[in-house]
Amino acid sequence: MKIAFIGLGIMGKPMALNLIKAGHTLRVFDRNQATMEELAAAGAVRCGSSVETVDGVDLVITMLPNSPHVKSVMLEDDKLADHMPKTATFIDCSSINPVASREIAAALAEKGIDMMDAPVSGGQPKAIDGTLSFMVGGKQETFDKFKGVLEAMGSSVVLCGDVGAGNVTKLCNQTIVAVNIAALAEAMQMGQMCGVEPQKIFEAIRGGLAGSTVMNAKAPMMMDQNFQPGFRIDLHIKDLNNVVDAAKAVDAPIPLTQSVLEMMKILHHDGDGSCDHSALLKYYQKLTGEVLHH
Ligand code: NAD
Repeated sequence: MKIAFIGLGIMGKPMALNLIKAGHTLRVFDRNQATMEELAAAGAVRCGSSVETVDGVDLVITMLPNSPHVKSVMLEDDKLADHMPKTATFIDCSSINPVASREIAAALAEKGIDMMDAPVSGGQPKAIDGTLSFMVGGKQETFDKFKGVLEAMGSSVVLCGDVGAGNVTKLCNQTIVAVNIAALAEAMQMGQMCGVEPQKIFEAIRGGLAGSTVMNAKAPMMMDQNFQPGFRIDLHIKDLNNVVDAAKAVDAPIPLTQSVLEMMKILHHDGDGSCDHSALLKYYQKLTGEVLHH
């Protein structure tokens, strides 16, 4: 398949490389010229603009930071909707506001172009391995046609509903992860202050109901004071702000998300925005003056 791929950052570059490995023809563009070199070396056509990428393609994929970037590329500045072939489909893999996904899909539909939103979870290691989890929104027939393309980049590809459903599911994922990390940090800090070694708390409860993928990944990082990303606080703030917007639109109560978002914003203003989201622990450490140890 001939594919235009726009946005070759931490996630987009390895995803595009896996599409090339699967035998697809890639036309690529990123504002940052340097990120295109590795792809050009792997056989991708390096384009001078996003408009150049869509020449004669079957599919356009974006992996951009947030809703304004996708709107800018598709509708407002680059206007790919006016340049891409009407027979081509658009798949946005960025994590954006589902309201924006639906707006973009509606604008494309007016031009006869079909769209799916297909955000991912798994982070850079799984993007490199081609084992991402895709949460997809779109029509069943479009999903059936392009499932194989997504499977070249991921090991789980699930159609969650109509367009926008992928990003709704991604927001659920981001809320669950954020609240989970905050609960873990709060409990470990409280446990140590009450006189029990954090390592013992972790060992004793990880196999029970409180155990989780989040606990296994983040408790050791917290005890090591290792806050190398991973997934940055600032990106998680972006996602939780999208949760707030999406929840507001349907009047859904989100008190836990709001609390963790406030904690993350405080960390951001304190200079910790580039830390891994396990640095939610720092919120408690700064309040108590006590540092979690092994
Ligand atoms: P990134 O900042 O590393 O990459 C984004 C890329 O988009 C950059 O290379 C930037 O130059 C490019 N870009 C921005 N505007 C552009 C434009 N107008 N035209 C062309 N290129 C443009 O971000 P990332 O970590 O790859 O994340 C991308 C998306 O995936 C985000 O929505 C993020 O929330 C989501 N995501 C990230 C992770 C992760 O662990 N990093 C995990 C899951 C999902």
